[in-house]
Amino acid sequence: MRIPFDLIAALIALQAVQELFGNMLGRNAPDTVVYSAGQVDSSTGEACLAILGFWIIVWLYHEAVARRTLWQVRWGRFPEGVKSADGSPRKRHPLETHDLYEAAGQASAVLLYVLVIWYFRWPLKTYSWPEWLGLQHVLSEKALDRIGSSTLVKAFLDLGPYAGAMMLSWLPKRRMAQAMTGRRIPRLSWLSLEARLTFIPLAAWFAINLLVDLLSFTGAGDAADLLNDLSKEVGGPSETLALLAMFGFLVFAAAVLMPWVMLRIFRCRPLPDGDLKSRIDAVVKRSGVKVRRILAWGPKGSGLANACVLGPWAPMRYVLISPGLTDILSPEECEAVIAHELGHARHGHLALLLAVLLSLASLSELLARFMFFKHPLAQGAVYMLLILVYLRIFFGIVMRACEREADLASAELIGSPLPLASALEKLARLSGGIRDVYSWHHDSIAKRVAVLMQDGLDPERIARYHRHMRRMSLGFLCFTAVAVFLVLGLSIAHDLLAVAATAASGAFVGP
Ligand SMILES: [Zn+2]
Repeated sequence: MRIPFDLIAALIALQAVQELFGNMLGRNAPDTVVYSAGQVDSSTGEACLAILGFWIIVWLYHEAVARRTLWQVRWGRFPEGVKSADGSPRKRHPLETHDLYEAAGQASAVLLYVLVIWYFRWPLKTYSWPEWLGLQHVLSEKALDRIGSSTLVKAFLDLGPYAGAMMLSWLPKRRMAQAMTGRRIPRLSWLSLEARLTFIPLAAWFAINLLVDLLSFTGAGDAADLLNDLSKEVGGPSETLALLAMFGFLVFAAAVLMPWVMLRIFRCRPLPDGDLKSRIDAVVKRSGVKVRRILAWGPKGSGLANACVLGPWAPMRYVLISPGLTDILSPEECEAVIAHELGHARHGHLALLLAVLLSLASLSELLARFMFFKHPLAQGAVYMLLILVYLRIFFGIVMRACEREADLASAELIGSPLPLASALEKLARLSGGIRDVYSWHHDSIAKRVAVLMQDGLDPERIARYHRHMRRMSLGFLCFTAVAVFLVLGLSIAHDLLAVAATAASGAFVGP
């Protein structure tokens, strides 16, 4: 799984643009509102043409970047890049340079997306999707209004231009993956794997939109109304209730929803009986980690060679290993990889990820309270900056430390660092000589192997690193608790003041 920063940025930007257009105007109001002198009153056809143009630009850019990288590695014959004329190695691995160009392309694509949906008022046009399908000939006006206001469909259509651009950018990447790994990857299975890896974080967003739709279709009103009604009954703590609902949803999403969605999206199946399964079962038993099941992750043809552990809550905890990985690794190496994944669970890394999520949500709330920008787009940019800095820099440090501890935990459980080191080296070689390629969340394989071989043989050094991680986790959990309590305290104070103000005004108007 990956964190699609560009998609998150597009989502934040979309929400800012929707806010700019008066998010809650509904289906019948939009045309009457004039927003900005810079915009034209464009037709839906013109907007679609602009989106098409946006897609072509994004595809051409990624095509050019992929061709450049393919040339540097001479279509996979020199995966680490052709040496310069004097024989000195390259300063940067071609894949690292490729990632930089891709990141620049993604940032530009988000800006272009914002420009297109704002200039052509896309979020206002998507209210008319039932008319696009000609449903006005078969449905009543009331029914049209009802389905036209579906937030789930609107969410799909509003984000659609960016999601489409993302998918187009994956096409050239497939040729690169084929050249680097020397394996043929069918186009459809490549696209479906990329989509599953990228769009999973959207599951929670779609779940919220679905919930809003269900509430409004069943006549319960929307979620905000529901919270308000509820808060009136208990005396007005609307902000605190909303905040508690958000924290509750985040915990539910991380502990239950995500593992559930992952298993279904990747159609995970039980591992076939045999030597490998009994070896893995024995490693799980030895580790003492409670795991619900160990499953095969994803189809064989997709080229996915990875393993992961899901679920901070033991009854919903699964270890996944892809058939693409078990095919290339020896049984001993597979055991070591599973021991690494179990290390994440055993040393509380999954709970730490949940704390990262909660602290980020609390920081966003605090930011919302003290936001000095009034314009929705400027506010969106500040949120994006917070997420980028927090996840890429801060969370990156935490993740890399967790990977290091899980590597050492594997050496501890297996009794030797060698099987994991050899698995990592094999993966680096088969993925196109990526041994020295830096990864912001996993570090480079070269560095991981060096640490593993240096510390993995010495139980005292491993124990010292566990102690260091315990201190770091404790510090981080305290930070999260402070952030959560601070934001909760502020909203309780806000709600109490609101209640007091209501009571005071009641005293004046009363008899
Ligand atoms: Zn790991």
